[in-house]
Amino acid sequence: MTLNISSDLIEALRNEANKTHPNECCGILLGAAGEIAQIQPATNVHPTPETHFEIDPATLIAAYKIEREGGPNVIGYYHSHPKGLPEPSKTDQASAAGDDKVWAIIGCDKIRFWRDGPVGFKPLSYEVVED
Ligand SMILES: [Zn+2]
Repeated sequence: MTLNISSDLIEALRNEANKTHPNECCGILLGAAGEIAQIQPATNVHPTPETHFEIDPATLIAAYKIEREGGPNVIGYYHSHPKGLPEPSKTDQASAAGDDKVWAIIGCDKIRFWRDGPVGFKPLSYEVVED
């Protein structure tokens, strides 16, 4: 499956990572199957945000409430690796739910997308679409 994302959203994800540097940024990917339509930045509430992330639970709860009420679906999450590659870290693997959500990871000025599947993270290909 190929994921679609607009060049504006790719730019927005890069900006979030730069703005939050040297801490990890984090947030929610909204849209429908196969397409990221929106991002919802969240506060990283982890006590060591330089090397970990935890999406503010209030933002997460609000996003799922909007989904239940017919709004855009929560298709996944994003976070940055200020000092690392855009690949799932050991910590990411340990905290993965295996629920098929999309994870976008920003690192070394690159963005890569992964699917958090039952047997671990699998790379997802994506296509940048112009608005
Ligand atoms: Zn990570």
